[in-house]
Amino acid sequence: MKKYGVNELRQMFLDFFESKGHLVMNSFSLIPQNDKSLLLINAGMAPLKPYFTGAEIPPRTRVATCQKCIRTGDIENVGKTARHGTFFEMLGNFSFGDYFKHEAIAWSWEFLTKVVGLDENRLYPSIYEEDEEAFEIWNKEVGIPAERIFRFGKEDNFWEHGAGPCGPCSEIYYDRGEKYGCGEPGCTVGCECDRYMEVWNNVFTQFENDGEGHYETLKQKNIDTGMGLERLAVVVQDVDSIFDVDTICALRNKVCEIAGKTYGEDHEADVSIRLITDHIRSATFLISDGVMPTNEGRGYVLRRLIRRAARHGRLLGIQGQFLEALSCQVIEGSKDGYPELEEKKDFILKVLNNEENQFNKTIDQGLKILSDMEAEMKAEGKTVLSGSDAFKLYDTYGFPMDLTKEILEEKGYSIDEAGFQKEMEAQRKRARESREVTNYMGAEATVYDEIDPSITSEFTGYNKLTDTSKVTVLTTEKEIVTSLVEGQAGTIFTEKTPFYATMGGQEGDTGVIYTENGKFKVEDTIKLRGGKYGHVGTMVSGMISAGEEVTLEVCAQGRFDTCKNHSATHLLQKALKTVLGSHVEQKGSLVTPTRLRFDFAHFQAMTAEEIGKVEELVNKEIQAGLEVKTQIMGIEEAKKTGAMALFGEKYGEEVRVVSMGDFSVELCGGTHVANTGAITLFKIVSEAGVAAGVRRIEALTGNNVIEYYKNIENQLHEIAHTLKTTPAEIEDKISHLQKEVKELHSENESLKAKMAQDSLGNVMDQVVEVKGIKVLAAAVDGVDMNGLRDLGDQLKEKLGEGVVVLASGNDGKVNLLAMATQGAMDQGAHAGNLVKAAAQIVGGGGGGRPNMAQAGGKKPENIPQAIEKIPELVANQLK
Ligand SMILES: [Zn+2]
Ligand SMILES: [Zn+2]
Repeated sequence: MKKYGVNELRQMFLDFFESKGHLVMNSFSLIPQNDKSLLLINAGMAPLKPYFTGAEIPPRTRVATCQKCIRTGDIENVGKTARHGTFFEMLGNFSFGDYFKHEAIAWSWEFLTKVVGLDENRLYPSIYEEDEEAFEIWNKEVGIPAERIFRFGKEDNFWEHGAGPCGPCSEIYYDRGEKYGCGEPGCTVGCECDRYMEVWNNVFTQFENDGEGHYETLKQKNIDTGMGLERLAVVVQDVDSIFDVDTICALRNKVCEIAGKTYGEDHEADVSIRLITDHIRSATFLISDGVMPTNEGRGYVLRRLIRRAARHGRLLGIQGQFLEALSCQVIEGSKDGYPELEEKKDFILKVLNNEENQFNKTIDQGLKILSDMEAEMKAEGKTVLSGSDAFKLYDTYGFPMDLTKEILEEKGYSIDEAGFQKEMEAQRKRARESREVTNYMGAEATVYDEIDPSITSEFTGYNKLTDTSKVTVLTTEKEIVTSLVEGQAGTIFTEKTPFYATMGGQEGDTGVIYTENGKFKVEDTIKLRGGKYGHVGTMVSGMISAGEEVTLEVCAQGRFDTCKNHSATHLLQKALKTVLGSHVEQKGSLVTPTRLRFDFAHFQAMTAEEIGKVEELVNKEIQAGLEVKTQIMGIEEAKKTGAMALFGEKYGEEVRVVSMGDFSVELCGGTHVANTGAITLFKIVSEAGVAAGVRRIEALTGNNVIEYYKNIENQLHEIAHTLKTTPAEIEDKISHLQKEVKELHSENESLKAKMAQDSLGNVMDQVVEVKGIKVLAAAVDGVDMNGLRDLGDQLKEKLGEGVVVLASGNDGKVNLLAMATQGAMDQGAHAGNLVKAAAQIVGGGGGGRPNMAQAGGKKPENIPQAIEKIPELVANQLK
């Protein structure tokens, strides 16, 4: 049998299935796409899931791939044995409702025996014990004797993952010979030892599990096969383990060469050699797919792999950086199947070096601290490292918690993980709080102070928005660094930049800085001492390093809107001087993409007429399409042009003069439109006082004015909608409504009068005579005190002479009113005393003058009682 290499076997497999009508697809990225259930691709079928579930239509119903995979579930065992690894390649042929068991079994056999040339007498298929269909195919079609076909139960030969598609599988084992066997009497296919190695697994997805153990036969049956490429190579090359197959062996030898060790001499050293060999493969492939070392998710996996490898390098006695040379070997060994490794080589090496360097700075110190901690634990008889110590190693020395845990476990210690997480959370909280209270510029001040003062930046952005330049300095929020990586916030300095930095009231530009391998989002641009332009923001992907050539791209829309607003402030200043007088002087300004603010000296609020005139004047100059010219000239010459300058502002020898036609001339370093016509529109939205003698105008230009009017228009439509009319008819509608309200009001008044009149008619029947005085006591419903008084006056008039008492219940309250005419008073009647006595009955109090009095109460249910009592009370008053 020919001992094919890993790269040959990969190609043979893909070619074979291409000849069987399969579409050969490139390996998918290790980063799952649209699949949040998975951190990293861990099987050949994982990226094809949407085709299996029917969520997406496959490009062909037969597909074959060689997929790069990473599994970190067994990471603790990597190195300790020769069986485990985190990185592997998986060969697979897939059928999406196309061929099924017959073809899948036949082709797997054909490939292993005819193409690769494995000895058929050493191959043993296994099936799920109830899968007679598969048995028949192996037995009758392929011709394997029944006793060579092994039947296994559900755990081994039924592929199932909770509810969903599932089915039996059929594996193919290869007998590697007695030398790999355990020698136990029962050693055969399925034994745990290394003799019978599973090389192929056919999964027949034919059922749908409803989650309660009921299996329905699927309409679309799928084939999902998997074969570890490295494992196949172990069999084909007849070597001990995956660490001995051609490409991986070359890498392993490279590790030995750098460490000055021989593989197989010392167990401890072998553990480290295997671990480094495996981890550098995973790390190299992860970086090529765009994963960056960070403290979370995939990034953490990568960081842990790199730092574990770096630490095991130390255990082997390697000093300094060594991962780059190994990564080069990985690329050399795998570029045939994965050309992206070669294309991204520079980037991969840079990321690796950066991460290794960062860790190298502290690793020795960290290991020393950790061994001190161990000694202390030993002395105190403790076996658990405190969360705060583990956190210190993480925070100060860059030891991922899992790394500390591993190092300790080697010596029988453990770690207080809950305590560590608590410290982590506390740090996150501190970071959040400090962000809230620390002044942005203040926080940055220290790191910027460390930058070489001779470094400066040239601004090239007056006439262009994109430029290329070299990175001079990079900083995080805390320190100067050689590289910024994904997720990091920081500042980038370049030799040249088209980004305008916040100055003279104009806000700094935003945009992006990028290379082929990294992208930085610029959130602000600031100017520092010595003419340095700092681009402040965050790395959104990849890495950018000092010395690299980068492309700087200003957000064009933001810049253009800012220019409109800035040019408009110049027109505004001149218009204010024209309308209000020459005392108007700029006191401050702010120009952003969305608005402009202009503060100026003036002693009273502007009238609506003045505001209107200023707007009109500015808009007239916008429509005139004045050319905006900038000139650099000596300060004296500039003054002769009549340029408006800020009082008290220091200007250099050379100044920039911005003029707009003959209308405005100002000293200004800002960015402007080329022609005032570009501003399109100008609108003042507010004018107010901000300090004694200082007014502030806020205004909009261009699309922001349109947006402003759009909002007003929307409001108008909403009002019209509420009024059930159209905007054009709102005025008519409102005057109509006003008229209607007026009419209703007067109608209401006359109804009220009529109601009172009606109740009047009825109550006149209730007049009684007490000792010759007419007494009218009556209850009326729901009338307030004013109503009672009106009613009382009318009744009194009707009565001629006498006493009137009215009571009304209203929402659980009682209003009482009593009136007495002069004639009644002459005979002793007293309205005040009368109402006082009646109020007691309805649970209240009150009183008043003899002729008129009112009172309140809380018991409306007692009103009839009170009314009944009135004649008696009056009788008692009369002489
Ligand atoms: Zn065995
Ligand atoms: Zn200006």
